Amino acid sequence: MAGKSVLIRNAEIYTPYEHIRRGFILVEEGVIKAIGKESYSGSRNGLEEIDLDGRIIGPGLIDTHIHGLYGYDTMDARQESFIEMSRILPRYGVTSFIPSTVTSPHEILLNVSKAFKTAYDAWNPSMGARLLGLHLEGPYINVEKAGAQNKEFIRKPSIEEFMQYYEESGRLIREITVAPEIEGALEFIRHVSSLGVVVQIGHTNATYEEALNGVLAGARKATHLFNGMRGIHHREPGVVVALMSSKSVFLELITDFIHVRPEMIRFVIDYAGVDRITMITDAISATGLQDGEYELGGLKIIVRNGVSRLANTGGLAGSTLTMDRGFRNVVSLGYSVGEAFAMASTNPARAVHADKDPGIGMLKPGFKADMVVLNDRLEVVATIIKGHIVYSR
Ligand SMILES: [Zn+2]
Repeated sequence: MAGKSVLIRNAEIYTPYEHIRRGFILVEEGVIKAIGKESYSGSRNGLEEIDLDGRIIGPGLIDTHIHGLYGYDTMDARQESFIEMSRILPRYGVTSFIPSTVTSPHEILLNVSKAFKTAYDAWNPSMGARLLGLHLEGPYINVEKAGAQNKEFIRKPSIEEFMQYYEESGRLIREITVAPEIEGALEFIRHVSSLGVVVQIGHTNATYEEALNGVLAGARKATHLFNGMRGIHHREPGVVVALMSSKSVFLELITDFIHVRPEMIRFVIDYAGVDRITMITDAISATGLQDGEYELGGLKIIVRNGVSRLANTGGLAGSTLTMDRGFRNVVSLGYSVGEAFAMASTNPARAVHADKDPGIGMLKPGFKADMVVLNDRLEVVATIIKGHIVYSR
């Protein structure tokens, strides 16, 4: 279906801002050309037609915080691991992703940056999900809120060191998680933000004021809100309230109902508004595999009933969530399918400027034809990337 023109018809379309009950999408050269509310009346000459028989279609899901799955891990620092992640993710409706590192020694982060660039250069849309860039989770975070980040390798922010990763990655570091209260952090945030890198506040013990200073310096996103950060107190609202009340800040939520209770997820969405929420998985290499012992950045992890915890402290260590399940979880809380698409695709794209480049996160003329087809139980039926059907069942 790649180079040709494709007509997708009889579709229940979520753009996601508009809900069209029976419409069509016309795709040319992997780009959305037109979306219609009625049946297609143009020329059908040379058109490949796909009848969705009333099934749901929306923008492909975008996971902007994922460490790995099926035994593959960003920290393998291998091109193959990124490519395999790209191949597997469309099963879960994912059309783009940002692999995430963990706090590690300098040489390893350098090797991950290099390997990412080779995978990025090797990718083509018939392979699988787009590699949008790299997320550095640490190493410039607070040891007091390390969570599943190895404390041994946490260090003070260094622009010089970061620039080595940035250059080696082909300037493809799209996000970095920083604790704003540590020495040198504000200057660091100002510098990397000016490069267009999205700074996320996370693994932090910041007070309300310290977190606001981070936002003023340019931070744009919260790394898994609540997890790995100081909690809320009515006399010291802390980093959570600072980020929630900063209207320019996007809020990552792990919607597995384990990291954050469903009632709290609803509280955040209702307070901050659907348009600021970006669903993530924070999935680790054990995702899609059986319970057992695994590793994350040199730390021992035990997965039981799909819940991933540090062996030594019992603290949560990433997840085994997939985006399609997170999507269904949010709908089960009473949000509409359109709102779930906004939180699982549109906002993740907007938060990292991917709505502008490469033009994803919405079904709209001029945007890439990255789409997911769901049945009425919201299970993934097909995943389309730049007009290629890369997964169907
Ligand atoms: Zn993470």
